[in-house]
Amino acid sequence: MNREHSIRAFQRARQLIPGGVNSPARAFGAVGGSPLFIERAEAQYLFDIDGNRYIDYIGSWGPMILGHAHPQVVDAICRTASRGTSFGAPTEMESHLAELIIAAVPSMERVRLVSSGTEATMSAIRVARGVTGRDKVIKFSGCYHGHVDSLLVAAGSAAATLGVPDSPGVTLGTSQDTIVLNYNDCDAIRHVFDEQPNAIAAVILEPVVGNMGTVLPTQPFLRTLRELTHKHNSVLIFDEVMTGFRVAYGGAQAVWGIEPDMTTLGKIVGGGMPLAAYGGRASIMDNVMPAGKVYQAGTLSGNPLATAAGAKTLELLRDDPPYDYLETISAQLANGLSQAAADAGIRTQLQRVGSMMTLFFNDNPVSDWPSADRSDRKRFAAYFWSLMDKNIYMPCSQFEALFVSAKHTPEDIRHTIDAARSHFSSMPNH
Ligand SMILES: *Cc1c(COP(=O)(O)O)cnc(C)c1O
Repeated sequence: MNREHSIRAFQRARQLIPGGVNSPARAFGAVGGSPLFIERAEAQYLFDIDGNRYIDYIGSWGPMILGHAHPQVVDAICRTASRGTSFGAPTEMESHLAELIIAAVPSMERVRLVSSGTEATMSAIRVARGVTGRDKVIKFSGCYHGHVDSLLVAAGSAAATLGVPDSPGVTLGTSQDTIVLNYNDCDAIRHVFDEQPNAIAAVILEPVVGNMGTVLPTQPFLRTLRELTHKHNSVLIFDEVMTGFRVAYGGAQAVWGIEPDMTTLGKIVGGGMPLAAYGGRASIMDNVMPAGKVYQAGTLSGNPLATAAGAKTLELLRDDPPYDYLETISAQLANGLSQAAADAGIRTQLQRVGSMMTLFFNDNPVSDWPSADRSDRKRFAAYFWSLMDKNIYMPCSQFEALFVSAKHTPEDIRHTIDAARSHFSSMPNH
């Protein structure tokens, strides 16, 4: 397969943009080699600048659940653009999107629109601290909440090494207010609340983790978090930037039946445009300025184009829900991939919720970062490139989830499983 144009484009970009990319996960650092440069996308396909067509299982890292360039979403953006792209003044479309969000996620009684998931989690933490008058935040190793300084500690795929903090430029002072625990560890969380009952402003987590690969919460873990935060007047924040409208229309909180105090949304809620949201109980959110005293603002917040794309996407998901279809073809893909590996004698763990999943090259189930970290990254990289050579575009890290869209067909799934099967059967199995 010819990828010459992409290779040249990457060389050029590296002279201009740090590492050649505007977000590190795109650089293929975990698997080596040169990233594809994209010319266009349509439905379940990506087309690179060399003219190759790929079945896309990244979907812009989550947003494109309806497939790329959905005609009705594109139409909503174009019609809106012709009336002006930003006003710095309120529009009715913002209330329309807020209504759609609140109807989908009832624990969000009020919602504020922002432009990225990072802004959403940063703002939610600020509100939680402002409301409680406390400093400490608990997060879980391997969960990623955007590149917020205080949360850039043990942050999963983007910064896959452990250590506090994860990045130069994050001060020890900032990271010292962050307590990092292992995901699914009920005893650890009990211990912290026993030791510091009045210090914890918030507990933030991905209610299904996507950012160390797909890792499911246990019901006791979520229930323990809900009980302890309630008892100690801490704010429980579900970061559903990835899981919102993905694992179900109402997000992971609908699937697991646990109501957080605050929720962050991103990715799907913006329909492929820069839009995210945070919200929660009115008694908390009414502390946000100008209703209250906690400052948060944005020149492009609630941008008309982004709001139109997000609202159209949610309307389509609400009125013609793809979730049953997604479950069916995602289960087929999951079963096919793990069977193909098993038939070749290769130990893997396929972990999935609905249309997000990860094939871990790991002997044992993955429940937290230490177990994820035991995965075989070299085997993953070989698998990734083998599928790429068969026109299948998988997430370029063992510690990312793949996403199926409503446009993937049973033929796409079969082709993907066949490609994986032929890779595994050519692989040494020990
Ligand atoms: C992607 C992601 C973020 C960050 O969102 P950006 O829009 O990239 O800033 C935060 N939390 C979770 C769970 C995510 O998956």
